[in-house]
Amino acid sequence: MRAVVTGGAGFVGSHVAEALLARGDEVTVIDDLSTGKRENVPAGATLVEHDVRQPFEVAADVVFHLAAQADVRVSVADPGLDAEVNVLGTVRVLEAAGLAGAQVVFASTGGAIYGECERPAREEDERRPLSPYGVSKLAGEEYLAGYNRLHGTRHVALRYGNVYGPRQDPHGEAGVVAIFFSRLRARKALTVFGDGRQTRDYVYAGDVAQATLLAAGGEGGVFNVGTGLETSVLELAELCGRAAGVEPELVHAPERAGELRRSFLDPGRAERELGFRAEVALDDGLRRTWKETAA
Ligand code: NAD
Repeated sequence: MRAVVTGGAGFVGSHVAEALLARGDEVTVIDDLSTGKRENVPAGATLVEHDVRQPFEVAADVVFHLAAQADVRVSVADPGLDAEVNVLGTVRVLEAAGLAGAQVVFASTGGAIYGECERPAREEDERRPLSPYGVSKLAGEEYLAGYNRLHGTRHVALRYGNVYGPRQDPHGEAGVVAIFFSRLRARKALTVFGDGRQTRDYVYAGDVAQATLLAAGGEGGVFNVGTGLETSVLELAELCGRAAGVEPELVHAPERAGELRRSFLDPGRAERELGFRAEVALDDGLRRTWKETAA
């Protein structure tokens, strides 16, 4: 298969590119290297430096669209930039894919779209984004669905949980696992906001890459990509300490405004319709991440 991965120089996109190459596909990465890194692009993939806000062409069977402004705080500070990259950029991808007759698999988000969860969120649940980032990702999904109705395409949106794994950037605001590991490596205390009982659905990057590949070739739609399990920040800190072989010291800081208490995803539809099941348990994924993350 000829595949294009937008955002393939980023954290999750590089795992998708790697998984495609491993099964023998031809991979072109389109990335403007704004947060991504050239060295994240796996050997064997071709990197084209391009900003997806500008029109472009592809020669591909599938376009995996992961390029995004992926930082919730940046979206609050600069919603215009967020909309340009996540909404206009997604339209550009749909247009490029349309000309090539390619299917689009779009990286969307569970946490930022569902809002507060009383139980694992299902795809048909009410969408209550709390940030411009959640709104722009939801707009991207609606563009895909609209193109499917208008053009009879089979584009797919995947709502990822909290992805963690090797190559996640510890310097941003997101990526608590990368931040905790970077602090543990430096023998520094871990900052826990609020009481630390807020929960997320942590899903290993390798599993997310497999789900993303499985979404290609099938029918269009929206699928959660998560584990169905919720883990609190306090539990996560302990598990990270265990993976690192370090007793973590915790420092509590005030709760952050707008932060969700509970967020986790029902993975049932992806299991039934894509045959996807997250294989890597959190303790195992954390051990792998610790081992593979350079000091
Ligand atoms: P990332 O920042 O590591 O990757 C994004 C990539 O897109 C980077 O390589 C960046 O250089 C590139 N990019 C940004 N703007 C671009 C533009 N205008 N043109 C071309 N390339 C551009 O982030 P990530 O965590 O790997 O996220 C990948 C995707 O998965 C995003 O769409 C994100 O919204 C989604 N997602 C991630 C998570 C998570 O937990 N990491 C959760 C839900 C959804």
